Amino acid sequence: MDIHEHQAKELFKEYNIPVSSGVVAFSKEEIRQAINKVTGPIWVVKAQIHAGGRGKGGGVKVLSSPEEAIEVGEKMFGMNLVTPQTGRKGRIVNRVYIENGSEIEKELYLSCIVDRSTSKIAFIVSKMGGMDIEAVAKDAPHEITTVIIEPSQGVTDKDINKMSEAMELDNNLANQFSDLICNLYRFFIEKDSSLLEINPLIITKDQKLVCLDAKVNFDDNAIYRHPEIENLRDPNEEDQHEKEAAKYDLAYIKLDGNIGCMVNGAGLAMASLDIIKMYGGEPANFLDVGGGASKEKVT
Ligand code: ADP
Ligand code: MG
Repeated sequence: MDIHEHQAKELFKEYNIPVSSGVVAFSKEEIRQAINKVTGPIWVVKAQIHAGGRGKGGGVKVLSSPEEAIEVGEKMFGMNLVTPQTGRKGRIVNRVYIENGSEIEKELYLSCIVDRSTSKIAFIVSKMGGMDIEAVAKDAPHEITTVIIEPSQGVTDKDINKMSEAMELDNNLANQFSDLICNLYRFFIEKDSSLLEINPLIITKDQKLVCLDAKVNFDDNAIYRHPEIENLRDPNEEDQHEKEAAKYDLAYIKLDGNIGCMVNGAGLAMASLDIIKMYGGEPANFLDVGGGASKEKVT
């Protein structure tokens, strides 16, 4: 399950993970009130959709007066935002987040996932933050460092040193960084998260680490343990077809193309999509009915 940036940041605060202060607006009218609560002198207006790359699509604007922030926020509300991650159709912006702008010295990359090859939690870091990490992985893979956490030990000093070296952090940031990693690790485990991505994690001009963006996913199989997270679900962000498929316990993801796929087994489904793409086609969906699907389930 995905949540919005503003929700992720609220959850982070409970774990003493540093974020900027901000206020969310659910309507054009609320934007004016929200801006009154953000002190400035830099205001950042951010479209809240379940997709990244908003900066590139015009969904993140850094402004120097509350009047400009109101104007930009009102325009952003209801707009169809197309980013490199939304697909061609884009997403309608139904909520806008207004937060205090930071003075950025450096943008870094930090994420935390379950590494499938080792079945352990891994942190992935890079000093090349703020940009498309897939592009960094392709063009400069040596700039990405993965640190696997040993579950019996938790995060060790050695793990933290390896990450801070890769990010070229000064010694005076060491304590902040160590607290940040330990708190993120605790969050990841306690909340049954499946992905935390902070891009960018910034160093401010006054030498503070701040999570400027926050993409957080939770393991659907564990949501029953977290009613507080279930409450954060945004039906506007959920595809109707995907919701219907979930009722029948089908792994279904809608895609943009015109070739429908019904496949038993996720590996075969992925391979089928690859083959379709290889021959210049566009799959309309990913549908894994499950390796052991019965006649009834397929029907
Ligand atoms: P996305 O990843 O969806 O494009 P981000 O939240 O990462 O959205 O914002 C894109 C860029 O906008 C950041 O890399 C940063 O340079 C700038 N930015 C975002 N939030 C702030 C903020 N609070 N203060 C200053 N700059 C910001
Ligand atoms: Mg980002």
